[in-house]
Amino acid sequence: MSQTPSVVWNKCLSFIKDNIQPQAYKTWFEPIIPVKLTGNVLSIQVPSKFFYEWLEEHYVKILRLALTKELGSKAKLVYIIKMENTFGNKMPFTEKIPSSSSSTIKSQSIDSPFSSFASELKNPFVIPGIRNLQIESQLNPNYTFENFLEGDSNRLGRSAGIAVSNKPGGTSFNPLLIYGGVGLGKTHLAHAIGVDVKQKYPDRTVLYISAEKFTQQYVDSVKKNTRNDFIHFYQIIDVLIVDDVQFLSGKSGTQDVFFHIFNHLHQNGKQVVLTSDKAPIDMQDIEQRLLSRFKWGLSAELQSPNYETRFSILKNKLYRDGVEIQDEVIEFVAKNINSNIRELEGAIISLIAQSSFNKAEITVELAKEVINKFVKNNRREVSIDYIQKVVSDYFQMDIQTLQSKTRKRHIVQARQIAMYFAKKFTKASLASIGTQIGRRDHATVLHACKTVDNLSFTDKQFRKYVEDLNQKLSN
Ligand code: ADP
Ligand code: MG
Repeated sequence: MSQTPSVVWNKCLSFIKDNIQPQAYKTWFEPIIPVKLTGNVLSIQVPSKFFYEWLEEHYVKILRLALTKELGSKAKLVYIIKMENTFGNKMPFTEKIPSSSSSTIKSQSIDSPFSSFASELKNPFVIPGIRNLQIESQLNPNYTFENFLEGDSNRLGRSAGIAVSNKPGGTSFNPLLIYGGVGLGKTHLAHAIGVDVKQKYPDRTVLYISAEKFTQQYVDSVKKNTRNDFIHFYQIIDVLIVDDVQFLSGKSGTQDVFFHIFNHLHQNGKQVVLTSDKAPIDMQDIEQRLLSRFKWGLSAELQSPNYETRFSILKNKLYRDGVEIQDEVIEFVAKNINSNIRELEGAIISLIAQSSFNKAEITVELAKEVINKFVKNNRREVSIDYIQKVVSDYFQMDIQTLQSKTRKRHIVQARQIAMYFAKKFTKASLASIGTQIGRRDHATVLHACKTVDNLSFTDKQFRKYVEDLNQKLSN
């Protein structure tokens, strides 16, 4: 037989080409490489798993027609997914792992020709050398709805989360955006949705990722020239949970890629869950088109819990940890720590630690001592707005003046000091500090931080300003 894979495939192609749109042909068929022909089995190499899925979903009929024309009614098609050598060689290699699960994938579709699905997809989570066929969800099993206590402060978010996990992609809460200040339970709730979906729908692909890690992966993929694989990887997720999307501020490349992934998932009825420390309206340096999508579904705020909720969260936590403390003490802690739940938990943990180190009973007295220390040592996170307010009050100017374009020395200095403290006391990037303090760029902020460092060293009066303000902002 003189049949070769290319000859057979080229005949199939000319048939396919006549029957579909030129653009579709270019996109989905030109990149395919015929690799092997064994009897009536043709193996073709496709660039990614996404590609394979797309072909199976949209072109399975035409592929079968073309192939049976060439190879007869017993024709079979095997997909091979191109992979990189995970051991660092530049040469790509292909690999075929006949997958037992393929029969189940295929059996659902009567039209489906044949194909046994081979190999795996390139996945940014794969540790070099280890291959995992399934996508690890990266979920924390301890964060469940069950131990996410309900209160007035979180009722909307919690109920929406439950609705979403009952019917991922099937409610109008898409995306579900959970927002609120630090330590109020955004991450916990986001995981709980994922954990619950996995339990109810084990075969859905769920992925939890922080926006920061997403950004790193994206930057890596650009460096390694695997941007498309990165996108394809994210496009096959059924429930994508992105934590702390405010981190995308000012990162236009990552925002752009996220925009495309978001659109793809949304259009295909997949669920997106987002968290942020701000309401969409207050997010800075996020492209308008992305912001408007964040608002498509439901934005649910997590607020600071009231006393009753704080009390029951503590009580529940102690119960789960098997620790017994008098209600009186729990009441005291719940009354005195009202900023957020992370601090609440932190205080109770210090209290337990103190009592066991010193073999002291946990009393209200001890709680008082610990909490006094705890609250003092635990600086509240300040916002850039607050810093600008404190600095401009200190120099007796208003915020507009502080942000203005003037070159007047004392105003420039005040602005630089505000930038310096924004860098010191917040996690904001230089770029985002710059935009928030008078629309400057990151280089200006960097310069400001250095100038303040230098001047505090050489100029006594200046040092006094910085020390005073440091004191004010630390309280
Ligand atoms: P955020 O992501 O908003 O900063 P986290 O989700 O990390 O906050 O929550 C901080 C801590 O508070 C976690 O240990 C979490 O389990 C706990 N927590 C938050 N909300 C609740 C709640 N409603 N019930 C029980 N624990 C909670
Ligand atoms: Mg969080």
